Amino acid sequence: MKIPFLDLKKLNKPYESRFQEKFTTFLDSGWYILGNEVRTFEAGFANYCGVKHCIGVGNGLDALTLIFKAYIALGKLQKGDGVLVPANTYIASILAILQAELVPILVEPELETYNIDPLEAEKQRTETTKAILAVHLYGQLSDMVRIHKLAEKYNLLVIEDAAQAHGAVLNGRKAGNWGDAAGFSFYPGKNLGALGDAGAITTNDSELAKILYSLRNYGSEIKYVNDHIGYNSRLDEFQAGILNVKLPDADVEATERKSIVKRYLSEIQNPKIALPYYDFSENHVFHLFVIRTENREALAGYLEEKGIGTLIHYPIPPHQQKALPQFHGLSFPITEKIHREVLSLPLNSTLTTAEVDAIILALNNY
Ligand SMILES: *Cc1c(COP(=O)(O)O)cnc(C)c1O
Repeated sequence: MKIPFLDLKKLNKPYESRFQEKFTTFLDSGWYILGNEVRTFEAGFANYCGVKHCIGVGNGLDALTLIFKAYIALGKLQKGDGVLVPANTYIASILAILQAELVPILVEPELETYNIDPLEAEKQRTETTKAILAVHLYGQLSDMVRIHKLAEKYNLLVIEDAAQAHGAVLNGRKAGNWGDAAGFSFYPGKNLGALGDAGAITTNDSELAKILYSLRNYGSEIKYVNDHIGYNSRLDEFQAGILNVKLPDADVEATERKSIVKRYLSEIQNPKIALPYYDFSENHVFHLFVIRTENREALAGYLEEKGIGTLIHYPIPPHQQKALPQFHGLSFPITEKIHREVLSLPLNSTLTTAEVDAIILALNNY
């Protein structure tokens, strides 16, 4: 048996005929940029998240970058302001802050949830700190209640990196509806994935939304009239069409992933393996099922021999990346432990019962 970490072709197979219809309609329409598919998706995804506005953009990194740039254009952030961000995040969160000429302030996560530790965030905060970027890593909502308390105390903007958390709910509020604004990615491997790059911003702030619609399109609302120094980062019309096909099934796929999660959590029993924390609420959509083990390379090698694909999210912490020498002197013991020990198991709606059985058996025999 060969079980790849993620078989995107298989994942998209059930949508094949509807994708082909979409392509034919798209080609025939003769309208390829910012058309009905983008507008339909923006309305649909805003509705899905329970927010007023959704702005489709080129990808998840741009979604986050444009949020920061928009706040700078509005005068709510200034170049050089600090942004609290978990030290163990995917590098895109940190790049977005840097692209907007803001200063990332790396904060240790909680080992249990892998999300930013609000107590540590408060300790790291300085007078120039103006925002917090809460990353819902692996699909689990950050502790948004405590993050909001912190934000109120120090007057910080709250921005969500929801690239891994489409559909996660806490206290009846979805990812994308917890921050002043949120960035989403629809990269093909994400929980809601396009057939190429795609992203979106959600917000309830109409003033922010207005400037974002402009910034993603050359800083222009009326063609050839430019109010801002903008970008070209529009959600692609064809990718929006693909996302319109998949959006109604986003929760179905999450439910299927979760039934596998329940099996993993109850049936994987091996003292060498630390399973992810999960309180069985709706606050986690399990973009990834991440375990920890002390001798990760041995476990990954063993699983590979059994034909089971795994990945590491992520092998090198941002503060040790060559691209970010400004952080090389810093030490984050929890973050470093996470990057040393984590391993992601296959988890997606294409896995068969026999495949899940084989994965559990292999882990228990390790
Ligand atoms: C995927 C991802 C991004 C970036 O999204 P892209 O669409 O690949 O640019 C940002 N943050 C996190 C946490 C991600 O997982």
